[in-house]
Amino acid sequence: MLKMHSVNKYFGEHHVLKNVDLSIKNSEVVAILGPSGSGKSTLLRTLNVLEEIEDGDILLENRSIIYKDDAQKKRKNPKQLSYEREEIGMVFQNFNLFPHKTVLENVIEGPVQVRKMKKEEAVVNAERLLKRVGLLEKRNKYPESLSGGQQQRVAIARALAMNPKVILFDEPTSALDPELVGEVLDVIKDLANEGLTMVIVTHEMNFAKDVADRIVFIDEGNILFEGSPEEFFSNNKQERIGKFLSNFK
Ligand code: ATP
Ligand code: MG
Repeated sequence: MLKMHSVNKYFGEHHVLKNVDLSIKNSEVVAILGPSGSGKSTLLRTLNVLEEIEDGDILLENRSIIYKDDAQKKRKNPKQLSYEREEIGMVFQNFNLFPHKTVLENVIEGPVQVRKMKKEEAVVNAERLLKRVGLLEKRNKYPESLSGGQQQRVAIARALAMNPKVILFDEPTSALDPELVGEVLDVIKDLANEGLTMVIVTHEMNFAKDVADRIVFIDEGNILFEGSPEEFFSNNKQERIGKFLSNFK
């Protein structure tokens, strides 16, 4: 449903994504692993059309979200882009909640402002989602009064409120105190079990092993491995992966 085809991305001279091919199927959970600076966040941002690419194509349900203009491939016009971005949810490392809005206001913002949903309907939907992430009783609180784990669960509810086709998570637990990691991973695990399509960048190896249908390992902008968690975690053929995994033992 979401595909990258021969994607190349540069920051100036720096070639950050090198001929990346990636295909995410409906209801699939793909974990992206790799060392710091390997291009994981850039890959996610590219999928979410937050970054321009120099070369290649990105397709959501077989529709390109890049269009070709002369010899160059450029973005679609902003109106078309916003439609595609609505279809792809994103959860960031640092939650990125609106600080001056309550929990409930954070969750209804997208549906009301972007999707033009009636406020009453958005509230009913938001309350259902807040219940699902275990935070209904915090609906009138402001983000600063919540723990990091609670804020991240609100961010997940906010992403879900747009009813996206796929949600991208960029290290959703790496800004959290260790004792708060579990509550967020449990919510993501539930969503995986419910069949939501997800791409998750994470350094939580046990979680990746547990929840992912497929592991993608990226190093210096190259996909070096793509396969099942079993294959990945018992990989002793690829030296780079062995070295990476040895950091987590
Ligand atoms: P981490 O695990 O530390 O989050 P990452 O795998 O997510 O790393 P990216 O953030 O995708 O890595 O960065 C890949 C490379 O691109 C790095 O060398 C980084 O310095 C560079 N880079 C990322 N964003 C930009 C930018 N906006 N401008 C210039 N270079 C960038
Ligand atoms: Mg990153």
